[in-house]
Amino acid sequence: MIKTHPCIDIALVGGGLVGALLALLLAREGLRVLIVEKKIIRDIPLQNQKDTRNLGLNYGTVQLFEAWGLAEVIHQQGFPIQHIEVSDRGHSGVVHIEAKEENLPFLGYGVPFNHLLAFLQNQVLACPEIQCIEGEVTHITVTETGAALQVGEQIFNASLLIGADGVESIVRQKMGWTLDEYDYQQTALIGPITMSQIQCDKAFERFTREGPIALLPNVPGQMTLVWVLPTHLAKVQQSLPNALFCQDLQKIFGYRAGIFQKIENLVAYPLKRATASQIYEGVVGLLGNAAHLLHPVAGQGFNLSVRDVLMFVEVIRRHRGQKLDASIWAEYAALSGSQQKQMSGVTHGFIKVFERTEWPVKALRNVMLHGLEVIRPARKILNDVMIGRM
Ligand SMILES: Cc1cc2nc3c(=O)[nH]c(=O)nc-3n(C[C@H](O)[C@H](O)[C@H](O)COP(=O)(O)OP(=O)(O)OC[C@H]3O[C@@H](n4cnc5c(N)ncnc54)[C@H](O)[C@@H]3O)c2cc1C
Repeated sequence: MIKTHPCIDIALVGGGLVGALLALLLAREGLRVLIVEKKIIRDIPLQNQKDTRNLGLNYGTVQLFEAWGLAEVIHQQGFPIQHIEVSDRGHSGVVHIEAKEENLPFLGYGVPFNHLLAFLQNQVLACPEIQCIEGEVTHITVTETGAALQVGEQIFNASLLIGADGVESIVRQKMGWTLDEYDYQQTALIGPITMSQIQCDKAFERFTREGPIALLPNVPGQMTLVWVLPTHLAKVQQSLPNALFCQDLQKIFGYRAGIFQKIENLVAYPLKRATASQIYEGVVGLLGNAAHLLHPVAGQGFNLSVRDVLMFVEVIRRHRGQKLDASIWAEYAALSGSQQKQMSGVTHGFIKVFERTEWPVKALRNVMLHGLEVIRPARKILNDVMIGRM
């Protein structure tokens, strides 16, 4: 028999990084929050989880986590980045971004995705103001004044509905909003790689004709590799024995980070850019990957979403004591729209410039890298993206 629950303030579909973070902050605003997540990872030993992603959190994001009292996991499990080296294969231009030069204690942190997710989900489970349901939302009914979610034999009602349920968002689909997609025909190969040199506080981003390669600090003697390749080449690399994989990578990356010795738990992510045709209507709206999925070249997806979360909570704060209605989403969309477009455009632009091989573009990007070292305004744009001032 179907059980119907009384109406609460806000329901979130999806308790990934974005949904879990937002639920915690909304509960602090005194709201009654429901979060429905397909799979909570509290009980699974971290080493058994497949996702070996190491997220690059920029300085601005880490500062926000500190302000929210949620940075413990970043400092305990993450690795501070003091230097970022950006280079282009086959060209001499190299850009160095240094925390010291920016007058910052660090540029950002590399944090294991799973540790961050487990930490946020456990905080949600421990928060008495949040009702957390492990299950899948299968049906959604929306009216002018609220939404109803079906999870198994239960129906939950809320004044406001947030879809934080990733790129295949059921909330987006239910609302009939389409996805504007761009398939890069690329795959990111990601995994911890053992190195001959210890690079505790340095990250690398190297652009190659086939796609960017990033190395983020990991435990001493290891870095997290993100190697973006056209999908057919990624499949070939993935099937190679360890020694050949490292050899190929070395040829393309060079020796600036040391010798690649062993890659483990390699995971492949097909890459695309996707933007929802609409992010809100009435009492329903989208946040995180459900609203926009970015190419991971500048490692900005979650960083951007953290700013969206901040703005959404700011709008909720402005409406404290008032009824939650459609005006919340309209206000939020006005605040966040330009920042989303700006970041999505910047990362898409990076990819388009660095993947082209025609000589004028090649010459331009080499000049760009040389220029960035010496021309302050151009360099500032790159620094601002990396650090999170943009
Ligand atoms: C290779 C790679 C590298 C990246 N590197 C970086 C980086 O360095 N820095 C950075 O800032 N970002 C990075 N990102 C982006 C970052 O991982 C994402 O921005 C972030 O994970 C998005 O979180 P989300 O909660 O919006 O979506 P998701 O992680 O997709 O979470 C959605 C959640 O919704 C749940 N769900 C879905 N449907 C339902 C349903 N019907 N009912 C209930 N629950 C449901 C799912 O189980 C899931 O937990 C990277 C991404 C990739 C792919």
